[in-house]
Amino acid sequence: MIPILDLSQQYQELQGELEEAVLKVMRSTRYILGEETQKFEQEFAQWHDPKALCTSVANGTDALQLAVRALDLKAGDEVICPSFTFIATAGAIALTGATPVFADISPQTFNLDPQSLQDKITPNTKAIIVVHLYGQAVDMDLILDIARRNGLKVIEDVAQACGALYKNQKAGTFGDLACYSFFPTKNLGCMGDGGAILTADPKLDQKLKMLRNHGSKERYYHEILGTNSRLDEIQAAVLRIKLKHLDRFNQQRREAASNYDRLLSELPVTSPYRDPNCHHVFHQYTITCPQRDQLKEHLASQQVGAMIYYPVSLHQQNTFLDPAENAPLAHCEKVQQEVLSLPIFPEITLQQQEKVARSIASFYQN
Ligand SMILES: *Cc1c(COP(=O)(O)O)cnc(C)c1O
Repeated sequence: MIPILDLSQQYQELQGELEEAVLKVMRSTRYILGEETQKFEQEFAQWHDPKALCTSVANGTDALQLAVRALDLKAGDEVICPSFTFIATAGAIALTGATPVFADISPQTFNLDPQSLQDKITPNTKAIIVVHLYGQAVDMDLILDIARRNGLKVIEDVAQACGALYKNQKAGTFGDLACYSFFPTKNLGCMGDGGAILTADPKLDQKLKMLRNHGSKERYYHEILGTNSRLDEIQAAVLRIKLKHLDRFNQQRREAASNYDRLLSELPVTSPYRDPNCHHVFHQYTITCPQRDQLKEHLASQQVGAMIYYPVSLHQQNTFLDPAENAPLAHCEKVQQEVLSLPIFPEITLQQQEKVARSIASFYQN
């Protein structure tokens, strides 16, 4: 079986370091907002940019929700996001009482289409959430230009693109706020749930640190309405170790992606487009292909794991569906029928990738 993701080898490689760090936290009996969390926040921010500030939180969904909340939006305010993304991107907007407005994507990059973004702006639009999907950064120059001209805040959803670059600058350092998930399957994953928000604005950073901890700076004095959304010390300790290896892991993903590009070049499938301005970190290696559902079934029968991210765009989800308001989005609706993500993880071997390619070839030969 070639799984879409295999975490076991990374665990084996780092086992000694990880177990020592976790044991140290357990023995310290300091489990929440201690030294590991503080150090992780500093190291994660520094790894991005000397001016970045980091607030760690309980998961990526909370990161998005608290980022939207930090902008003080009210009911009726609109936030534009791509429709072709994970539910959390838009759920975070809706949960704050603001309205998610769905824009179309570029069929080449699968990322937010600047023209569609422009078309969706109304007098009520307050912010944009861009998603660096599958590990490739959005064309930020175009987005930031639209944001500036329309006075909109920008939140980056970097859940799938930790370490990705746009014009040699790290994703997560372009917007007013940037949100991360450390769910175990992400490029930087912990051993449970985790998330973080990055900003260069000390005021926003201070507000986020209050929001995640019941709205208080000082315990039992609550200045704003917050919540409980904290990263715990064990997860922070794990993340500090994995962060040291992340550039290498991302490089291994890129090499695996190049192998696939080569192995699939003669087949009737389309390999992911690489924007020359971007350093793609291949959270997913996502092809588009004819007869996608049948190919996926065939691969399963050949013991090859493949997944569809995402089969239904958000503007068509029951939770958001409002036929009057959610206009069709042609590229999202086409792409969702064609995408298929193949097994990729830093330790995948060339032999495994050859097996994946052979299985795809055998499907189209029949
Ligand atoms: C994983 C993910 C999230 C949510 O992160 P959780 O930690 O699972 O809450 C948000 N946005 C995108 C694009 C993701 O891939």
